[in-house]
Parts: sequence; structure tokens; C-alpha cells
Amino acid sequence: PEAITIQELANRMSERAVDVIRLLMKQGAMHKITDVIDADTAQLITEEMGHSVKRVAASDVEEGLFDVVDDSTDTEPRSPVVTVMGHVDHGKTSLLDALRHANVVSGEAGGITQHIGAYQVTSPESGKKITFIDTPGHAAFTAMRARGAKVTDIVILVVAADDGVMPQTVEAINHAKAAKVPMIVAINKIDKPDAKPERVRTELLQHEVQVESFGGEVVDVEVSAKNKTNLDKLLEMIALQAELLDLKTNSERPAEGTVIEAKLDRGRGPVATVLVQRGTLKVGDIIVAGAEMGRVRALISDQGENIDEAGPSVPVEVLGFNGPPEAGDRLAVVENEARARQVTSYRAHQKRENAAASISGMRGSLEQMMS
Ligand code: GDP
Ligand code: MG
Repeated sequence: PEAITIQELANRMSERAVDVIRLLMKQGAMHKITDVIDADTAQLITEEMGHSVKRVAASDVEEGLFDVVDDSTDTEPRSPVVTVMGHVDHGKTSLLDALRHANVVSGEAGGITQHIGAYQVTSPESGKKITFIDTPGHAAFTAMRARGAKVTDIVILVVAADDGVMPQTVEAINHAKAAKVPMIVAINKIDKPDAKPERVRTELLQHEVQVESFGGEVVDVEVSAKNKTNLDKLLEMIALQAELLDLKTNSERPAEGTVIEAKLDRGRGPVATVLVQRGTLKVGDIIVAGAEMGRVRALISDQGENIDEAGPSVPVEVLGFNGPPEAGDRLAVVENEARARQVTSYRAHQKRENAAASISGMRGSLEQMMS
């Protein structure tokens, strides 16, 4: 159960793997570099090569990376993070696009902004900012939730007024409820002649979503993404809901965030869209996310501009990872590269062990070797 590959052990000691293999051979065991040896053997080898051994538990390695429980220093207000969900073709993408353009500063050429999967809009009336996340779909949302990543403060449930509540509408309602995230209903396609907003409200009631006009507490707004009807009202309702949530953060600490999406870009290498949730992410920071680490080489805003830093609720493209992390991975800034290596190699090890354990039906030990 407690195990480490020869390569990993050599890396941790800053020794050559062949020397480890040679030592093992002297003790009568033939090994390849990718072979896994148990913790006791690894300890023997480590000591024989003149290194000290410290066995650490998961809690030691991960400690201090995420202060999700300790929010006592969160005293600054932050903007809400909003996810749009709903049935296919009900207008999620159209609504996100319409909201994005509702915010294009006059003089700026519309439509040239780079798409990074998340963006910020300034509500015209209150001047408050709202962050929208363009989730690839419910599957991604579920994956993020499974990893314990909470990114969304408010869910916008889009229901097409001509189509009504459909299976994925119900799924979205269940997601929002399970995540305990407040919901605002956007009844879309109100421009259509066969739009029946009242029917939508009735159908929602059957799924225990009670809008205000039916005596409930869920806010609903009739919109048309196509004609850009009532978008300001929707933004105001979001701002209002956010006020009730009283969202707080601390921008004066090392950054914490969540990877929204990541890919390997041909020209730019690994690129991750990250939602910064606390602290301020800066160029030059040493970062870890999942089993990947790196140094922030560049930060690119939702407007496609290079920026030096990104604060809470700001979505940003991060360049500088050694490899692409996964959607839902949480990002943290660490003090130095050694710490980053410690965390990521530990997680990589855990990942392999969990994969192996799930095959054999056994769960691996949480302990591992460190030198
Ligand atoms: P998604 O699958 O939920 O992202 O839906 P899309 O945004 O791709 O929209 C699906 C279709 O509905 C597209 O053909 C849109 O042009 C159309 N659509 C979206 N919003 C509206 C609207 O407010 N009014 C009308 N008439 N059509 C809309
Ligand atoms: Mg879409």
C-alpha cells in the first residue's frame, strides 16, 4: 500500500534513478525505473544514500494550501460569480453573449474580445461588477462540485418561454439545490409569438421552484437574448441577490482559485482559465493546481489584455503551467518551487495510487516517502 516509484524516489533525493536501481540490485532485486517499491524498502535506500527520511501524511502536505474554513480575514466585499444553466437550445450561449455585449464600452469595437470562458460585466445601474462563467455543461459543473470546488454564487436558470421546463431544466434545478446556490429564473425568448411565460412559472412550481408572483422567493425575469430585452433588469436582480449574499473576501493574501478550463495551446503551451476567489494572483507567482505546477508567466484578462495581477472574482487566463491542470482543480500560490514540487508530486502519487486502488478495489495508504 505505501509505495513510490523509483523515478519519484530518485527525484525527491535529487539522485539518479540508475543509482537507486544499482543499490537495489546489490540487495538482489532487479527493477525498472517505473517500478514501484514499498515504503520500507524506499526508506532503506534513502538512508543508504545518505538522506534523511520523513514520512508525511496528506494533511501535512496539503496543510495551509487552502484556508477554505478559515474565512476570518475575509472582510472586503467581492462581486458575485454567476453560472448560466438550462436545457439545450433555450438560449444560454445567446444570453451570455448578449450580456457580454451589453457591457461593451462605447468606442470599443464590439465582438473582438477574446473568449476565455468567463468574463466580468459592470451592471449599468449600480456600477457593480458581476462575473459570468460559461460552463461547458452540467457534466463540468458536477465534476467541479465532486472536487469540492465551489465557484458559483448564483445560478441563472434559463427556460425558453416557448418550450417550457425540459429534462435539463430539471437537472439544473437539482444541481442548484444540491449545491445550495440561489437561483434566478430567466424566462427567455419572450419575443417569440408562442412564448408562454406563465406556463413556465406553473411548470417550475411542479419542481418546487416558486417564483415571486406565485408567492415564492425565486426571482424571475422575462428576457429576450435575441432582442436584448430586460438584460439590465436581469443584471440588477443579480446585483440585488448578491447583496443579500453579502459576499466577502481578502485580496491581500496569496491567491486561491479554481480552474474553469484548461488546454494545451500549440503556441502558448498549457493555458488555464482560472477564477481567482481570494487573494491576488500575480505574474511571477509559483502556483499549483491539481498535480500541475508552474510559475505565472502571463495573465490575460477577459478583454484579451495582459495584466499584472488579478484579484478576487476576476477570471483570468494563466500561462506558465508545466502541464494543463483539470477543470475543477483548485489553484494555490505557494512560497517556492520546492514546496510546489512537494505538493504536486504528492498529488501525482496519490492520483496513481487511487487509480491503482480503484482497479484492485483497495484504497492505498495516505502515507508516502519524503526526503
Ligand atoms: P443554448 O444551447 O442554451 O446555449 O442555446 P443557444 O444560445 O445556442 O440558442 C439556441 C437557439 O435559440 C439559437 O438559434 C438562438 O438564436 C435562439 N435564441 C436564443 N435566444 C433567443 C431569444 O431570446 N429569442 C429567439 N427568438 N431566439 C433565441
Ligand atoms: Mg450553448
